[in-house]
Formats: sequence, C-alpha cells, structure tokens
Amino acid sequence: MEPTSHYRTFTYLWYTLWTPGGLLWVAAVLGFVPYEYSGLAIPWLAVALLAGLQLPRLIPARCPNCGVRRAYIFREQVAEDSLAVKYRCRSCGHVQDTGQVEAVGGE
Ligand SMILES: [Zn+2]
Repeated sequence: MEPTSHYRTFTYLWYTLWTPGGLLWVAAVLGFVPYEYSGLAIPWLAVALLAGLQLPRLIPARCPNCGVRRAYIFREQVAEDSLAVKYRCRSCGHVQDTGQVEAVGGE
C-alpha cells in the first residue's frame, strides 16, 4: 500500500473503530442501553483510540522509491498549528509527503 492510501485507510479504520463505541457511550448516558452493557462503552473507546493510533505505526506502508514495505508514518510540524503527515522508509531513507495535514494537538 502506498503511503497516501495507507494513511487514508488507517484514518478511516480509526473512525470506524471508535464511532460505535462513541455512539454506545452517548446511548448509555441517555439511558438507552441496559446497565450490563453500558460499561462496555469506555473500554471500547479506549481500546479503539489506542489501537487505531498504534496500528499505522506497527504496519508500515510500501515505499514508493524502493518498493520495500518499510515506510513508517511520522508527523512534521509545518506551521504553528499544523502537522504534515509523512512516511520515512527505513530501507532507503526516502521521505514521502502524503499531502495530508493534521491540526496540532490532535493526538
Ligand atoms: Zn525505500
């Protein structure tokens, strides 16, 4: 997987992981969820957020320069309030800019 599609896939996966947990938590707060299930929301959210943040670091993308699957995500501050999402290959050192930007404090 190329760095840009790798980043998009994992961002999408992250949302699909934590959204059900968030909805369950809101439903639990409003009293729509039976008591024995309402305790699931917080652990679900915690696991989804942590796992979702760690997955792109554990599973590298394919380097577009040398073709080896050893391109790891990193973020570089490009302005006071924004981070550029980039990938650095641990095989050849190539840096790929995904063109994606995140707000500082998002993590
Ligand atoms: Zn490479």
